[in-house]
Amino acid sequence: MSVGDEIVDIFEKRGAGSYFGEPVSQLEHALQAAYFAEQAQVPEYLVVAALVHDIGHLLEEIPEDIAERGVDTKHEELGRAWLEKRFGPEVYEPVRLHVDAKRYLCATDQTYLDKLSPASRLSLKLQGGPMTEREVTEFERHRFCREAVRLRVWDDLAKVEGAQVPALSYYRGVIEKVVRRFV
Ligand code: FE
Repeated sequence: MSVGDEIVDIFEKRGAGSYFGEPVSQLEHALQAAYFAEQAQVPEYLVVAALVHDIGHLLEEIPEDIAERGVDTKHEELGRAWLEKRFGPEVYEPVRLHVDAKRYLCATDQTYLDKLSPASRLSLKLQGGPMTEREVTEFERHRFCREAVRLRVWDDLAKVEGAQVPALSYYRGVIEKVVRRFV
């Protein structure tokens, strides 16, 4: 099974669930995030990162020893672990950082903070609130911090009910181009 097939399969099996009370399904949310990335004319690896940024929510197999390994079942970490075996850091790092990117944006962009939906405000609290100055500095040191912030913005936009965007099959070829070659 190619990585493109695997991703299509995951979305087909579990993508129909709703995206946390928003008017879109998990699949629609992913397709819209990828669409916004494409509109921004970014490299293909970021389009793929946008498409799979929440794949951690759709994965079934959680390793039994996950707690022993000190890993919280955070979806961004689950996503990274899965993606790491298939893509390079240019894909899995923005995915891993996309939750932190929200806390980063809340600390550095007042407009972003003001526009947060009530639900997002609530989860922000649980996520630790806006970053401290020190966390901001640390975040900015990540090689893929800018990509993570861009991904976050597409993530926030990708909640449009009934939006017409390319279907999943469109991304199969893009995925195969970006996938890591272990040779
Ligand atoms: Fe998302």
